[in-house]
Amino acid sequence: MNRKQRRAAAQIAKRSGNPEIQEKLEILNNLKEECFVCQIPFDKTDMKMLDSWIIVVNKTSADGTRLYCPKCWEEAMEFVKSTSM
Ligand SMILES: [Zn+2]
Repeated sequence: MNRKQRRAAAQIAKRSGNPEIQEKLEILNNLKEECFVCQIPFDKTDMKMLDSWIIVVNKTSADGTRLYCPKCWEEAMEFVKSTSM
């Protein structure tokens, strides 16, 4: 996909009101702007951070959306691995 095609695709996604994208944006709007574990600040306008940080949505709890920086997520995964053995 070249740059022109990619831009066209983005336009179509915008116009079609893709519910998946809209839901993601809504989650981002309600998100706390720091890591749930270490409280380092999260910049939701930074595409690199949006890509690498992990958002966990728990629909059964009111404030269930939690944000993890890549480092804390990795540590959490290590913890899960070590306890499930
Ligand atoms: Zn963290």
